[in-house]
Amino acid sequence: MSVEPVSFTLNDLPLRDDLRGRSPYGAPQLDVPVVLNTNENPHAPSPRLARALADAVAATALGLNRYPDRDAVRLREGLASYLGHGLTGAHVWAANGSNEVLQQILQAFGGPGRTAMGFEPSYSMHPIISRGTGTGWVSVPRDADFRIDTDTALAAIAEHRPSVVFLTSPNNPTGTALDIADIARVAEAAPGVVVVDEAYAEFRRTGTPSALTLLADHPRLIVSRTMSKAFALAGARVGYLAAHPAVVDALQLVRLPYHLSAVTQTVALTALDHSDELLGAVDDLRAERDAAVAWLREHGFAVADSDANFVLFGEFEDRTEVWQAMLDQQVLIREVGPPGWLRVTVGTPEEMAAFRAALLRATGR
Ligand SMILES: *Cc1c(COP(=O)(O)O)cnc(C)c1O
Repeated sequence: MSVEPVSFTLNDLPLRDDLRGRSPYGAPQLDVPVVLNTNENPHAPSPRLARALADAVAATALGLNRYPDRDAVRLREGLASYLGHGLTGAHVWAANGSNEVLQQILQAFGGPGRTAMGFEPSYSMHPIISRGTGTGWVSVPRDADFRIDTDTALAAIAEHRPSVVFLTSPNNPTGTALDIADIARVAEAAPGVVVVDEAYAEFRRTGTPSALTLLADHPRLIVSRTMSKAFALAGARVGYLAAHPAVVDALQLVRLPYHLSAVTQTVALTALDHSDELLGAVDDLRAERDAAVAWLREHGFAVADSDANFVLFGEFEDRTEVWQAMLDQQVLIREVGPPGWLRVTVGTPEEMAAFRAALLRATGR
């Protein structure tokens, strides 16, 4: 083995100019007892479900010399029936996490000379995937309570004519859900596709409709979902979308052949068969979320209303100091969102008790 020259770095590579100086996306993955930083479901699969997954993968393994079903037909049918709303497999597309779904959307509808638009603070992967696909990014600010002012949105759309509009609802990192009538107005005004990123849809409060209800009337609307959050399956990497079948046809032009492995398809189908167990904690997590919001307010923190499995709270003069003081007590939360705010993922009752105790100590309240 040869020894590579030590002085050779990323900067010496013929990297694209627009990637120079950028850092890779990702929250710290630290091994501490209380991990509340990436919006995962805190409940691991039961041993019984782990066994069912292992058995299904063993059966699939007998055919691993062959490529998987390129169109993931059974999985898409299973996801469609999970979503309901009269959707079929033809309306659904799946990939390795919803991030890959979003990337395929930008590959098909964005690209050089085109722009995507988002309303920030929001999910930072939207601009990152846009840039990665050579798509311009237009950021429109949300208002002081993290809502999207529809008139501002419509004016920005008229000015920039974006090929892709991202609406995240419930929004990450603020937890804010959008009004369904506002989503419809944006969908009517936008000249390109409108992506409603519903990664946290299952956690929304009662009475908050999903944008799935708008699909029948809006053929350029796309609703993206994931099995990473409510479904407690982040490690399996399964995301999906629902849209008009023509949108699915467009994505087939850019997807890599056999992008979704046979193992992934089997794991996702088995998970769908056990959705009662996997989604079983969602109501408890919603209740724990509402309790966290109330507790934080009682203790004088500013808190954004949340329809998701996390809570954004503040405001801190030095949020890094608070984040570090939490970590020193073995509680990992996320330094993300507008300056002065921090985000905590809703965990088990025990984890939330640890969070509350650590926060009181970290802030001297
Ligand atoms: C977590 C998250 C995703 C999910 O990503 P996966 O690739 O499916 O794990 C998508 N959108 C938002 C807004 C998220 O917070």
